[in-house]
Amino acid sequence: GSDQGTPAKPRVLVLANQKGGVGKTTTAINLGTALAAIGEKVLILDLDPQGNASTGLGIDRKSRRVSTYHVLAGESSLENAITETVVPGLFVAPSTLDLLGIELEIAHERDRTHRLRNAIKALMASEVTKPFTYILIDCPPSLNLLTINALTAADAVLVPLQCEFFALEGLSQLLKTVEQVRSALNPQLTIHGIVLTMFDPRNNLSGQVVADVRQFMGSKVYETMIPRNVRVSEAPSHGKPVLLYDLKCAGSQAYLRLASEVIQRERALRAA
Ligand code: ADP
Ligand code: MG
Repeated sequence: GSDQGTPAKPRVLVLANQKGGVGKTTTAINLGTALAAIGEKVLILDLDPQGNASTGLGIDRKSRRVSTYHVLAGESSLENAITETVVPGLFVAPSTLDLLGIELEIAHERDRTHRLRNAIKALMASEVTKPFTYILIDCPPSLNLLTINALTAADAVLVPLQCEFFALEGLSQLLKTVEQVRSALNPQLTIHGIVLTMFDPRNNLSGQVVADVRQFMGSKVYETMIPRNVRVSEAPSHGKPVLLYDLKCAGSQAYLRLASEVIQRERALRAA
Protein backbone atom coordinates (compact mmCIF):
# COMPACT_ATOMS: atom_id res chain seq x y z
CA GLY A 1 0.00 0.00 0.00
CA SER A 2 0.88 3.67 -0.03
CA ASP A 3 2.45 3.37 3.45
CA GLN A 4 5.47 1.76 1.82
CA GLY A 5 5.65 4.54 -0.74
CA THR A 6 4.57 2.27 -3.59
CA PRO A 7 1.20 3.43 -4.90
CA ALA A 8 -1.31 0.61 -5.34
CA LYS A 9 -2.01 -0.18 -8.96
CA PRO A 10 -5.59 0.51 -9.97
CA ARG A 11 -7.60 -2.34 -11.46
CA VAL A 12 -8.43 -1.48 -15.05
CA LEU A 13 -11.76 -2.96 -16.16
CA VAL A 14 -13.15 -2.41 -19.63
CA LEU A 15 -16.85 -2.44 -20.51
CA ALA A 16 -16.95 -3.91 -23.99
CA ASN A 17 -19.55 -5.23 -26.40
CA GLN A 18 -19.63 -4.25 -30.05
CA LYS A 19 -23.41 -4.11 -29.92
CA GLY A 20 -24.92 -0.75 -29.10
CA GLY A 21 -27.65 -0.29 -26.53
CA VAL A 22 -26.71 -3.26 -24.32
CA GLY A 23 -25.90 -1.28 -21.17
CA LYS A 24 -22.15 -0.58 -21.39
CA THR A 25 -22.45 3.10 -20.53
CA THR A 26 -25.18 2.58 -17.94
CA THR A 27 -23.02 -0.06 -16.26
CA ALA A 28 -19.87 2.10 -16.38
CA ILE A 29 -21.69 4.99 -14.69
CA ASN A 30 -23.57 2.98 -12.09
CA LEU A 31 -20.99 0.34 -11.27
CA GLY A 32 -18.53 3.22 -10.95
CA THR A 33 -20.90 5.05 -8.62
CA ALA A 34 -21.56 1.94 -6.54
CA LEU A 35 -17.82 1.25 -6.18
CA ALA A 36 -17.23 4.87 -5.15
CA ALA A 37 -20.09 4.60 -2.65
CA ILE A 38 -18.33 1.74 -0.88
CA GLY A 39 -15.07 3.63 -0.60
CA GLU A 40 -13.18 2.93 -3.81
CA LYS A 41 -11.65 5.79 -5.78
CA VAL A 42 -12.89 5.38 -9.32
CA LEU A 43 -12.01 6.88 -12.70
CA ILE A 44 -14.26 6.41 -15.72
CA LEU A 45 -12.56 6.80 -19.08
CA ASP A 46 -15.10 7.74 -21.72
CA LEU A 47 -13.85 6.25 -24.99
CA ASP A 48 -17.12 6.57 -26.90
CA PRO A 49 -17.22 9.61 -29.22
CA GLN A 50 -20.91 9.95 -28.32
CA GLY A 51 -19.84 10.85 -24.79
CA ASN A 52 -22.90 9.40 -23.08
CA ALA A 53 -20.96 8.46 -19.95
CA SER A 54 -19.73 12.04 -19.62
CA THR A 55 -23.23 13.46 -20.16
CA GLY A 56 -24.78 10.95 -17.78
CA LEU A 57 -22.34 12.08 -15.11
CA GLY A 58 -23.37 15.69 -15.51
CA ILE A 59 -20.36 16.91 -17.53
CA ASP A 60 -21.81 19.20 -20.20
CA ARG A 61 -20.12 19.49 -23.59
CA LYS A 62 -18.92 23.06 -23.08
CA SER A 63 -16.87 22.10 -20.04
CA ARG A 64 -15.02 19.26 -21.81
CA ARG A 65 -11.91 21.31 -22.51
CA VAL A 66 -9.52 18.37 -22.37
CA SER A 67 -10.89 14.98 -23.41
CA THR A 68 -9.76 11.42 -24.07
CA TYR A 69 -9.27 12.58 -27.66
CA HIS A 70 -6.44 14.87 -26.56
CA VAL A 71 -4.94 12.06 -24.50
CA LEU A 72 -4.94 9.57 -27.39
CA ALA A 73 -3.72 12.21 -29.83
CA GLY A 74 -0.74 12.82 -27.54
CA GLU A 75 -1.78 16.40 -26.86
CA SER A 76 -2.50 16.00 -23.15
CA SER A 77 -1.71 13.83 -20.18
CA LEU A 78 -4.57 11.74 -18.83
CA GLU A 79 -4.20 13.58 -15.54
CA ASN A 80 -5.17 16.85 -17.23
CA ALA A 81 -8.33 15.34 -18.74
CA ILE A 82 -9.74 14.19 -15.40
CA THR A 83 -12.61 16.11 -13.82
CA GLU A 84 -14.71 15.44 -10.76
CA THR A 85 -18.35 14.39 -10.98
CA VAL A 86 -21.43 14.84 -8.81
CA VAL A 87 -20.40 11.62 -7.04
CA PRO A 88 -17.70 11.92 -4.35
CA GLY A 89 -14.83 9.57 -5.21
CA LEU A 90 -15.89 9.23 -8.84
CA PHE A 91 -13.97 11.04 -11.57
CA VAL A 92 -14.25 11.04 -15.34
CA ALA A 93 -12.04 11.70 -18.33
CA PRO A 94 -14.73 12.87 -20.75
CA SER A 95 -14.94 12.29 -24.49
CA THR A 96 -15.79 14.61 -27.34
CA LEU A 97 -16.86 13.99 -30.93
CA ASP A 98 -13.22 14.58 -32.02
CA LEU A 99 -12.69 10.95 -31.01
CA LEU A 100 -14.45 9.93 -34.23
CA GLY A 101 -11.33 10.94 -36.14
CA ILE A 102 -8.65 9.49 -33.89
CA GLU A 103 -8.44 6.13 -35.62
CA LEU A 104 -7.34 7.70 -38.91
CA GLU A 105 -5.13 10.25 -37.18
CA ILE A 106 -2.98 7.68 -35.41
CA ALA A 107 -3.36 4.79 -37.88
CA HIS A 108 0.33 4.90 -38.83
CA GLU A 109 1.81 5.46 -35.39
CA ARG A 110 3.77 2.53 -34.04
CA ASP A 111 2.25 2.92 -30.57
CA ARG A 112 -1.35 3.29 -31.83
CA THR A 113 -2.65 0.30 -29.86
CA HIS A 114 -0.77 1.27 -26.67
CA ARG A 115 -1.61 4.95 -26.37
CA LEU A 116 -4.17 4.46 -23.61
CA ARG A 117 -2.04 1.94 -21.75
CA ASN A 118 0.87 4.38 -21.77
CA ALA A 119 -1.36 7.24 -20.63
CA ILE A 120 -2.58 5.18 -17.67
CA LYS A 121 1.00 4.22 -16.80
CA ALA A 122 1.98 7.88 -16.81
CA LEU A 123 -1.00 8.71 -14.59
CA MET A 124 0.08 6.10 -12.07
CA ALA A 125 3.63 7.43 -12.09
CA SER A 126 2.47 10.99 -11.54
CA GLU A 127 1.94 12.08 -7.98
CA VAL A 128 -1.54 11.66 -6.62
CA THR A 129 -2.19 11.81 -2.92
CA LYS A 130 -4.87 9.15 -3.08
CA PRO A 131 -4.48 6.87 -6.11
CA PHE A 132 -7.40 5.44 -8.07
CA THR A 133 -8.31 1.89 -7.11
CA TYR A 134 -10.53 1.23 -10.15
CA ILE A 135 -10.43 2.54 -13.70
CA LEU A 136 -13.52 1.68 -15.77
CA ILE A 137 -13.32 2.20 -19.52
CA ASP A 138 -16.55 2.77 -21.46
CA CYS A 139 -16.12 1.60 -25.06
CA PRO A 140 -17.89 2.54 -28.30
CA PRO A 141 -20.18 -0.07 -29.91
CA SER A 142 -17.46 -1.33 -32.22
CA LEU A 143 -14.31 -3.46 -32.14
CA ASN A 144 -12.28 -0.56 -33.50
CA LEU A 145 -8.94 0.95 -32.50
CA LEU A 146 -10.54 2.67 -29.48
CA THR A 147 -11.78 -0.66 -28.11
CA ILE A 148 -8.40 -2.26 -28.94
CA ASN A 149 -6.68 0.50 -26.94
CA ALA A 150 -9.02 -0.21 -24.03
CA LEU A 151 -8.40 -3.98 -24.17
CA THR A 152 -4.65 -3.41 -24.40
CA ALA A 153 -4.74 -1.20 -21.31
CA ALA A 154 -7.04 -3.42 -19.26
CA ASP A 155 -6.61 -6.09 -16.63
CA ALA A 156 -10.00 -7.61 -17.39
CA VAL A 157 -13.13 -7.30 -19.52
CA LEU A 158 -16.64 -6.93 -18.21
CA VAL A 159 -19.25 -7.73 -20.85
CA PRO A 160 -22.75 -6.30 -20.53
CA LEU A 161 -25.19 -8.58 -22.34
CA GLN A 162 -28.77 -7.57 -22.94
CA CYS A 163 -31.38 -10.23 -22.18
CA GLU A 164 -32.72 -10.49 -25.73
CA PHE A 165 -32.89 -13.12 -28.42
CA PHE A 166 -29.64 -12.24 -30.23
CA ALA A 167 -27.61 -11.76 -27.05
CA LEU A 168 -25.20 -14.63 -27.70
CA GLU A 169 -24.73 -13.85 -31.36
CA GLY A 170 -22.08 -11.16 -30.95
CA LEU A 171 -20.45 -12.72 -27.91
CA SER A 172 -18.24 -15.21 -29.75
CA GLN A 173 -16.84 -12.44 -31.96
CA LEU A 174 -16.06 -10.38 -28.87
CA LEU A 175 -14.42 -13.35 -27.14
CA LYS A 176 -12.33 -13.96 -30.26
CA THR A 177 -11.16 -10.35 -30.25
CA VAL A 178 -10.27 -10.59 -26.56
CA GLU A 179 -8.27 -13.75 -27.35
CA GLN A 180 -6.42 -11.96 -30.18
CA VAL A 181 -5.57 -8.99 -27.99
CA ARG A 182 -4.40 -11.34 -25.25
CA SER A 183 -2.02 -13.21 -27.54
CA ALA A 184 -0.73 -10.21 -29.49
CA LEU A 185 -0.87 -7.20 -27.19
CA ASN A 186 -1.82 -7.91 -23.58
CA PRO A 187 -1.08 -11.38 -22.15
CA GLN A 188 -2.62 -10.58 -18.75
CA LEU A 189 -6.09 -9.81 -20.14
CA THR A 190 -8.89 -11.91 -18.65
CA ILE A 191 -12.68 -11.99 -18.76
CA HIS A 192 -13.89 -10.59 -15.46
CA GLY A 193 -17.49 -11.48 -16.03
CA ILE A 194 -20.66 -11.16 -18.02
CA VAL A 195 -23.45 -9.02 -16.65
CA LEU A 196 -26.98 -9.62 -17.86
CA THR A 197 -28.79 -6.32 -18.34
CA MET A 198 -32.37 -5.15 -18.85
CA PHE A 199 -33.72 -8.38 -17.44
CA ASP A 200 -37.52 -8.54 -17.45
CA PRO A 201 -38.91 -11.33 -15.22
CA ARG A 202 -42.34 -11.07 -16.85
CA ASN A 203 -40.87 -11.89 -20.23
CA ASN A 204 -40.41 -15.64 -20.87
CA LEU A 205 -37.83 -14.95 -23.54
CA SER A 206 -35.70 -13.03 -21.04
CA GLY A 207 -35.65 -16.10 -18.79
CA GLN A 208 -34.70 -18.39 -21.69
CA VAL A 209 -31.85 -16.09 -22.71
CA VAL A 210 -30.56 -16.09 -19.13
CA ALA A 211 -30.60 -19.90 -19.07
CA ASP A 212 -28.75 -20.10 -22.40
CA VAL A 213 -26.08 -17.58 -21.42
CA ARG A 214 -25.50 -19.28 -18.06
CA GLN A 215 -25.20 -22.66 -19.77
CA PHE A 216 -22.77 -21.30 -22.39
CA MET A 217 -20.60 -19.15 -20.10
CA GLY A 218 -21.06 -20.87 -16.73
CA SER A 219 -19.55 -19.14 -13.71
CA LYS A 220 -18.29 -16.24 -15.82
CA VAL A 221 -21.82 -14.83 -15.58
CA TYR A 222 -22.40 -12.68 -12.50
CA GLU A 223 -25.23 -13.81 -10.25
CA THR A 224 -26.55 -10.26 -10.19
CA MET A 225 -28.81 -9.37 -13.11
CA ILE A 226 -29.69 -5.76 -13.82
CA PRO A 227 -33.48 -5.50 -14.19
CA ARG A 228 -35.12 -3.36 -16.81
CA ASN A 229 -36.11 -0.36 -14.74
CA VAL A 230 -37.46 2.98 -15.93
CA ARG A 231 -35.56 4.89 -13.22
CA VAL A 232 -32.29 3.62 -14.74
CA SER A 233 -33.19 5.09 -18.12
CA GLU A 234 -34.47 8.38 -16.67
CA ALA A 235 -31.39 9.19 -14.59
CA PRO A 236 -28.98 10.21 -17.42
CA SER A 237 -31.25 13.04 -18.57
CA HIS A 238 -30.81 14.50 -15.09
CA GLY A 239 -27.02 14.18 -15.38
CA LYS A 240 -26.97 11.73 -12.49
CA PRO A 241 -26.24 8.07 -11.86
CA VAL A 242 -29.40 6.20 -10.90
CA LEU A 243 -27.94 5.67 -7.42
CA LEU A 244 -28.17 9.43 -6.84
CA TYR A 245 -31.47 9.78 -8.67
CA ASP A 246 -33.35 7.02 -6.84
CA LEU A 247 -31.25 4.91 -4.47
CA LYS A 248 -34.14 2.64 -3.50
CA CYS A 249 -35.18 1.56 -7.00
CA ALA A 250 -34.48 -1.97 -8.21
CA GLY A 251 -31.84 -0.76 -10.68
CA SER A 252 -29.77 1.02 -8.02
CA GLN A 253 -29.95 -1.96 -5.69
CA ALA A 254 -28.83 -4.29 -8.48
CA TYR A 255 -25.80 -2.12 -9.27
CA LEU A 256 -24.82 -2.12 -5.59
CA ARG A 257 -24.98 -5.93 -5.60
CA LEU A 258 -22.94 -6.05 -8.81
CA ALA A 259 -20.27 -3.86 -7.22
CA SER A 260 -19.89 -6.19 -4.26
CA GLU A 261 -19.72 -9.17 -6.61
CA VAL A 262 -17.00 -7.44 -8.63
CA ILE A 263 -15.04 -6.79 -5.46
CA GLN A 264 -15.49 -10.40 -4.33
CA ARG A 265 -14.09 -11.63 -7.65
CA GLU A 266 -11.19 -9.22 -7.31
CA ARG A 267 -10.37 -10.66 -3.88
CA ALA A 268 -10.55 -14.19 -5.26
CA LEU A 269 -8.25 -13.24 -8.14
CA ARG A 270 -5.76 -11.65 -5.79
CA ALA A 271 -5.77 -14.68 -3.50
CA ALA A 272 -5.22 -17.06 -6.44
P1 ADP B 1 -24.57 1.05 -24.58
O1 ADP B 1 -23.62 1.93 -23.86
O2 ADP B 1 -24.17 -0.38 -24.59
O3 ADP B 1 -24.87 1.55 -25.95
P2 ADP B 1 -26.55 2.14 -22.76
O4 ADP B 1 -25.98 1.93 -21.41
O5 ADP B 1 -26.42 3.51 -23.34
O6 ADP B 1 -25.96 1.07 -23.78
O7 ADP B 1 -28.08 1.70 -22.71
C1 ADP B 1 -28.91 1.80 -23.86
C2 ADP B 1 -30.25 2.39 -23.48
O8 ADP B 1 -30.92 1.51 -22.58
C3 ADP B 1 -30.14 3.72 -22.77
O9 ADP B 1 -31.19 4.54 -23.17
C4 ADP B 1 -30.27 3.35 -21.30
O10 ADP B 1 -30.82 4.40 -20.53
C5 ADP B 1 -31.21 2.16 -21.37
N1 ADP B 1 -30.97 1.22 -20.26
C6 ADP B 1 -29.80 0.65 -19.92
N2 ADP B 1 -29.95 -0.17 -18.87
C7 ADP B 1 -31.25 -0.11 -18.52
C8 ADP B 1 -32.05 -0.74 -17.50
N3 ADP B 1 -31.52 -1.60 -16.62
N4 ADP B 1 -33.37 -0.45 -17.46
C9 ADP B 1 -33.91 0.41 -18.35
N5 ADP B 1 -33.24 1.02 -19.32
C10 ADP B 1 -31.91 0.77 -19.42
MG1 MG C 1 -22.51 3.58 -24.64
